[in-house]
Amino acid sequence: MIAPDLKTAIAQLGELIEVASMVVPFTGAGISTECGIPDFRSPGGYWTKNRPIPFDEFLASQEARDETWRRRFAIQDQFGGAQPGRGHRALASLYRRGKAPGVITQNIDNLHQTSGIADDHVIELHGNTMFAACLDCAARYEIPWVRQRFDADGGRAPDCPACGGHIKSATISFGQSMPEVPMRRAEELSRACDLFIAIGSSLVVWPAAGFPLTAKRSGARLVIVNREPTEFDELADLVVREDIGDALSPFIAH
Ligand code: NAD
Ligand code: ZN
Repeated sequence: MIAPDLKTAIAQLGELIEVASMVVPFTGAGISTECGIPDFRSPGGYWTKNRPIPFDEFLASQEARDETWRRRFAIQDQFGGAQPGRGHRALASLYRRGKAPGVITQNIDNLHQTSGIADDHVIELHGNTMFAACLDCAARYEIPWVRQRFDADGGRAPDCPACGGHIKSATISFGQSMPEVPMRRAEELSRACDLFIAIGSSLVVWPAAGFPLTAKRSGARLVIVNREPTEFDELADLVVREDIGDALSPFIAH
């Protein structure tokens, strides 16, 4: 059912949250747009300007690695200071109240952690862009270190000083395998919850998009909060086509 207006949406969402014993929020890029970080699929979004670089290209070509890191540093300059928005704060409030055990997120921007959810309770399906790692020996590298090497070498992506492997930000690219532990934990939470709220995701990136379905099939109620329609709207118990910050701000505990 699509909520007819913002007021009704908030009332119905509030009711569903109150009667639920375990709420699992699942977030996508849309929760961070009010923080100034553009999403991929809204008109004018990131992909209209930057074709994604698949994992096999990253592995195969120095030029692709250089370009990947050039983009990463540009992002740092534009969005490095982003702070959690109303959506993040509302979810952190549900977490503090004990309503939600954590969040499942497709985002890589670390804003759920900044909003006060413990690292351990942010299940990142696509990794985190705030640090980097060697693809061969898994040594961790900080972004400023990579940037310093990159600049010193005339815009060339550095390899791992320890083993010579390629260094990549700790995110999951297209064509890269999904992280095992977060996938398993997301599956468990989706099965265990009785209310699953998908927020700010176009629900087209698989396998992440499978979790709302898993939750619904396991008997949970499903709410979708997204400005644009998604393919799963028909399955949802409640569809909120409103701005995320507007819809979730009443749930921020002060
Ligand atoms: P998406 O770009 O495919 O979809 C975002 C959805 O959010 C859109 O349908 C849009 O209508 C909606 N939206 C945007 N702002 C909104 C607002 N203020 N209120 C209501 N709805 C709003 O995002 P996705 O489904 O997360 O898939 C993109 C992939 O790219 C993700 O897997 C993620 O890894 C990555 N990504 C991450 C970030 C980030 O970390 N902030 C940003 C861009 C992309
Ligand atoms: Zn290494």
